[in-house]
Amino acid sequence: MEGYVPGEQPQGKGFIKLNTNESPYPPPAPVLKAIRAAANGDLRLYPDPMATAVRRKVAQVYDTKPERVLVGNGSDDLLTMIIRAFVGPRDAIAFPTPTYSLYPTLAAIQGARVRAAPYPPDFSLPERLFGGKAKATFVANPNSPTGTAVPPKEMAKLARSLKGALVVDEAYADFADDDCLRLVKRHRNVIVLRTFSKSFSLCGARLGFAVAREDVIAGLAKVKDSYNVNRFAIAAGVGALENVAAMRANVERIRATRARLTAALESFGWFVYPSQSNFVFARVRPNQSAEAIYGALKRRKILVRWFGAPGLEDGLRVTVGSDREINALLSALREILSGRGKGSRRRQA
Ligand code: PMP
Repeated sequence: MEGYVPGEQPQGKGFIKLNTNESPYPPPAPVLKAIRAAANGDLRLYPDPMATAVRRKVAQVYDTKPERVLVGNGSDDLLTMIIRAFVGPRDAIAFPTPTYSLYPTLAAIQGARVRAAPYPPDFSLPERLFGGKAKATFVANPNSPTGTAVPPKEMAKLARSLKGALVVDEAYADFADDDCLRLVKRHRNVIVLRTFSKSFSLCGARLGFAVAREDVIAGLAKVKDSYNVNRFAIAAGVGALENVAAMRANVERIRATRARLTAALESFGWFVYPSQSNFVFARVRPNQSAEAIYGALKRRKILVRWFGAPGLEDGLRVTVGSDREINALLSALREILSGRGKGSRRRQA
């Protein structure tokens, strides 16, 4: 099998990182303080296997019950639990494509089959997903790498049409106009995933949660690693949920920068998908090479993501950084596209 290839995490310093959808803003000071306070003698003890303190806070903030919440070592951990719990060898999972490339990797680990349904050009849900017999159907909403989102109403229709689980992967939902959390109340097969990585600026802490019906959560808990969330991550999660206003303020800044970045990329004649996320996906002009532009940016120590997968070769995914980072990106792009400056070759780029 082929392993999942994460975005590059450079060892050197001085890079502008716009390749893995991290937040440009640090976690709020009280969150850092809570993490520091967890560095105490209790570290000799295992953490709470169910991360009860985080479950309770999630229930409070998102108007649900702790029994409907499960906490993971990032939402990737929850995706693993879901596949372990729902999918046996030769069972199928389904998802629209292009999407988060971890889904097929997890399927391969489990010996499961994959039913991929290509998105139509408008990135609404593919007809083929409806009524599917897969044990679990995964929809990243907003989607990656496109940043597009489908309305909760459409997702509810999909949930009703499926026998298996519908996993709505909402890693980027805080940057969107709407979300599907309320679907859990009406649909027993819906599992919504959230993460502290992006909007809460806690990629490095590894923390995510699932919201679903009590019986689903109890089943998932059976297949998780016993102590899947460490004491620092638990402290970070509780602290983050006590400072939701700080997260929302950062989200507003990122949404404003997103609008400016989108307009600037469009001014290059690039096609930019309407993004509901903290990144944008842009298709370059037919006479340009996205790969060459990616390379020219990298030589200037600016990292964006070029996937090179079928149907994505002409695109670049750019994380919405701070205003300063985006200004640096845009002036580098102007230089590269006009054929000026170091390492640029006009015909290639
Ligand atoms: N889902 C999607 C769609 C993502 O893009 C990511 C980030 N790579 C994740 C889940 C995982 O996020 P984390 O494990 O950091 O919570």
